[in-house]
Amino acid sequence: MGRIYAIANQKGGVGKTTTAVNLGAYLAAAGRRVLLVDVDPQANATSCLGVDRQSLEHSTYEVLLDGVSAEQASLATKHEGLDLLPATANLAGAEVELVGLKAREYCLRKAMTPIQDQYDYVLLDCPPSLGLLTINALTAAQDGVLIPVQCEYLALEGLGHLLKTIYMVRDNLNEQLTIAGVVLTMYDARTNLSKQVVNEVRKYFPAYVFKTIIPRTIRLSEAPSYGETILSYAPTSVGAVAYYALAKELLDRSQQT
Ligand code: ATP
Ligand code: MG
Repeated sequence: MGRIYAIANQKGGVGKTTTAVNLGAYLAAAGRRVLLVDVDPQANATSCLGVDRQSLEHSTYEVLLDGVSAEQASLATKHEGLDLLPATANLAGAEVELVGLKAREYCLRKAMTPIQDQYDYVLLDCPPSLGLLTINALTAAQDGVLIPVQCEYLALEGLGHLLKTIYMVRDNLNEQLTIAGVVLTMYDARTNLSKQVVNEVRKYFPAYVFKTIIPRTIRLSEAPSYGETILSYAPTSVGAVAYYALAKELLDRSQQT
């Protein structure tokens, strides 16, 4: 059975999508079958993988609300082994439309069950909010949540709120939900602030922080504008090496459990 992880933090711009896309690419490069699910109406993961949103017949919206299967809506990407369930802006409507449904928190989980055997890893890229889309992702995340934290001022702000939501989902909707790991992102070795944040976050989450720290690099921010992952855009760059190492760490952790 495939492992399902949500990549969540309601704070915007902390590296959720960059982590989802590049981690997905490196897990696939390691021979794993990976599905990246774009659960964000901004559809950044979809754009990052070079998919033209106008051309899509189906997307996460139809899977959540119109009974289209995840298999039908998923596309192959240029990375062998990496598939994408794409999103479009209409997913914003789902946040409201889900409210009226029975078992509204379970829609994504239900959609993932039939395809779980086809993949080794399913990564759910969440929007920057704690609304029903993120709750659906946390409810579906049988193997836990990966939390990217940006090495910047106020990095820890809002994490209490995220943790409360995670515990609420664990107590009521998905008893398997755990914190699978905290990923430090956009680290700038030249600043004391980045170092302080690393120490603070390691103190706050003693057991969870990945050893691999993702540096802030131009290459990582450029790759999406070409519809490329860091693996296809700049495979020898320091950002690429970091996401390779992160994928390896996740694979090692998965093998231990
Ligand atoms: P949102 O909350 O809007 O979904 P996010 O948490 O998914 O945002 P990203 O979209 O991954 O965050 O990153 C925000 C911006 O920072 C993007 O422009 C991205 O290219 C850039 N970025 C992410 N990680 C890095 C990095 N390690 N180095 C440089 N730029 C980065
Ligand atoms: Mg994002």
